[in-house]
Amino acid sequence: MKLILMGGPGAGKGTQARRIAEKYGIPQLSTGDMLRAAVKAGTEVGLKAKAAMESGSLVTDDIVVGIISDRIQEDDCKGGFILDGFPRTVEQAKALTKMLKKRDLKIDFVIDITADDEELVGRITGRSTCSKCGEGYHTMFKKSSKEGICDKCGGELTTRADDNEETVRNRLGVYHEQTAPVLGYYGKKGALKEVNGMLAMDEVFNALCTILG
Ligand code: AMP
Repeated sequence: MKLILMGGPGAGKGTQARRIAEKYGIPQLSTGDMLRAAVKAGTEVGLKAKAAMESGSLVTDDIVVGIISDRIQEDDCKGGFILDGFPRTVEQAKALTKMLKKRDLKIDFVIDITADDEELVGRITGRSTCSKCGEGYHTMFKKSSKEGICDKCGGELTTRADDNEETVRNRLGVYHEQTAPVLGYYGKKGALKEVNGMLAMDEVFNALCTILG
């Protein structure tokens, strides 16, 4: 099963991708996570991506296409994968179609998790993630019982540098301008489905599982 999860920043792509990955036993491929790891490690890709990520703009297509092209060739992707945060431009979507076609593969599902912009801003400002296991928390919707510490594994909670209101608003603008056309690209192919991301997390997950079967 090869799946693309679409949706604005904070729509729940990462959270839902993790749950789907667990249920279906396929890897979650998050370009955001991969780029953050590259920035942290100080690699060439990381150095090139850092400024764009900090301002909430997009990293260049060639960088992310290169990352995904390498990653989907790894063994754990043989049974499928979940793309979370890629493609974010029509150029990336076209490059993905091309790289899959070369191997006689195609995307099975593209699902857009929809939510209002103001809801997204509220969700993002206040969220944190466990640096050890990746579990997500929020100061209003899902507090950890001990401040700054993960309930699941005891790891330290960290806040993303780009999860502040100013950058989030820029990320939303970028989403509407550059990423929303990707929905049109898959819509024309008849591959696009929608799930209401304003619902509770479990309800969104159930709706996704109903589509995936
Ligand atoms: P995310 O974790 O998906 O919100 O991504 C965080 C940041 O990484 C984005 O704001 C972009 O700067 C960069 N990024 C992640 N995925 C992509 C992509 N497919 N194309 C361009 N930039 C990306």
